[in-house]
Amino acid sequence: MNIRIGQGIDFHQLENGVDLWLGGVKIPSEKGCVAHSDGDVLIHAICDALLGAAGLRDIGYFFPDTDNKYKNIDSKILLKETFNLVHQKGYIINNIDCTICLEKPKIGPFILEMKKAISSIVETESDNVAVKATTTEKLGFVGREEGVFAIAVVLLSK
Ligand SMILES: [Zn+2]
Repeated sequence: MNIRIGQGIDFHQLENGVDLWLGGVKIPSEKGCVAHSDGDVLIHAICDALLGAAGLRDIGYFFPDTDNKYKNIDSKILLKETFNLVHQKGYIINNIDCTICLEKPKIGPFILEMKKAISSIVETESDNVAVKATTTEKLGFVGREEGVFAIAVVLLSK
């Protein structure tokens, strides 16, 4: 069996009055991610992990933020297109493990919904997708609520 690991990381600035999308779910929040797309930092990290595992280029290469086609795009569409690229190479998802790092709001109540949203797009069981959250204990740009980041690791096999 061919097993491949990949990692991805993504950062976004936070701004007042912008919708906050995480893991395909809209989270009630005063601030949201500034981005060309809907700014779903978690999905972007997962896309890069998938692409890396398959030996492909990064998310910016496939979906450039200079292309108006991707303006305000739902990142779930980017994840679907990314999964298709990986799937075309014959890979399936073994599991995805990721962490969102943000100061607030608390996202615990939305984790199950995120797992469901992500797993259905990448055609795997909800149990194969772990979404975790942490803060930076008030340190740095995350602690000052200026930004958020997410890290994802994925294992593919064929
Ligand atoms: Zn991003």
